[in-house]
Amino acid sequence: MSEIIDIAIVGGGPAGLTAALYGARARAETVVFESTLPGGQIITTDWIENYPGMPEGLNGARMGELMHAHAEKFGAKFRTFAHVEEIKTEGGGFRISADDESFLARTVILATGAMPRRLGIEGETEYAGRGVSWCATCDGALYRGKEVAVIGGGDAALEEAMFLTKFAERVHLVHRRDQLRATKCIQERAFANDKIEMHLGRVPVEVLGHMGKVSGLELGTPAGEPAETLDVQGVFEFVGVHPNSDLVKDLAELAEGGWVMVNGSMGTTYPGLFAAGDVTDTPLKQVVTAAGQGATAASEALRYLDSGLCPL
Ligand code: NAP
Repeated sequence: MSEIIDIAIVGGGPAGLTAALYGARARAETVVFESTLPGGQIITTDWIENYPGMPEGLNGARMGELMHAHAEKFGAKFRTFAHVEEIKTEGGGFRISADDESFLARTVILATGAMPRRLGIEGETEYAGRGVSWCATCDGALYRGKEVAVIGGGDAALEEAMFLTKFAERVHLVHRRDQLRATKCIQERAFANDKIEMHLGRVPVEVLGHMGKVSGLELGTPAGEPAETLDVQGVFEFVGVHPNSDLVKDLAELAEGGWVMVNGSMGTTYPGLFAAGDVTDTPLKQVVTAAGQGATAASEALRYLDSGLCPL
C-alpha cells in the first residue's frame, strides 16, 4: 500500500465495492475499509431478484463475494474487518483512523450503509438474540416447524416473511396500517403464500417471554387498544433502516434523519468527500442504485484528483 491513498472507501457493500472497481480499474490507489464480510447488508438477504441481467436471481452473500472478487481483480486493496473510528481532514486530504492504524487519503467515499431500526417496545432488548432478530437469513433455520412474527409492511418485511416460510409452520405478518408499503409484485406473492397470515392495522406492543426465550407477541390497535396475542417463538423486525453517518457528521451536511446530503455527482458538502448507497439522502435504496452511485462517486473522485484541487 503506498503512503497516500487516492480513494479510500469506507464500507464494503454494493456501493463501496462498485466504487472500488471503478477506482482501481482507473489505476487509482484504491483501498476499501470493511468492518465485516464483503457485501454489507446484502449478506443478510437470501435472494436478490431485481438486479438486471440476473433473471434467476442470486444469493446476497454470493453477490457480495462476486463484487469483492471483481474489484480485487482490477487491483482494489482491502482492509477487511477494519473498523474505521474517525475521519479527519489533514493537509487538504483526510486522515482515517482504523484499529490503531492511520492512513492518509486524497479522497474518501463514504459507503457505510444503514442499520436496521428498532421498535423500542418492551421485551425487544431483553429477548434480542433469544427470539428477537433482524436477520431472517441468519436465524430463520432455527424456527423450523415453529410460528414466527414479522413486523413491517415494506419490501424487506415481505421478502423476509416469504423466506421464513421455508422453515416456519406459520408466519404472522404484522403491519401498522391497512395498506402495505411493499412493491406490488412482492405483495401479490406474499398474499398468495398460504403460510403467511396478515395482521393489518396492528401495532406490536410487547415481546413476551418464558424461560429466557420469546413466547409471544402482544398486539394492539393504532388507537392504543389491546388487540390479540400471537403465540410465536420468533419475532423478526423489518421496520426500516437508519444511516451509519456518524463518521462524517462534523464534516458534511446531513439531512433530517442523519442521511448524508449528496448532489447529483455523489459529492457531499465537503470537497473531496463523496458518499454512495444507503447512507445517502437519495430515495431509492436498492442494490442497483447503490452500485450506480458507487460508480458515480468513484468517477467524480477521479475527476477531483485530476483537477488538481487536492493539495496532497
Ligand atoms: P421501508 O420501506 O422503509 O419500510 C418500513 C416498514 O416498517 C413500513 O411498512 C413502515 O410502516 C414500518 N414501520 C416503520 N416504523 C415502524 C414502527 N415504529 N412500528 C411499526 N411499523 C413500523 O423499509 P425496508 O422494507 O427495510 O426497505 C428499506 C429500503 O430497501 C426500501 O427502499 C426498499 O425498497 C429497499 N428494499 C428493497 C428490496 C427489493 O427490492 N427486493 C428488498 C428489501 C429492501 P408504514 O408503511 O406505515 O410507514
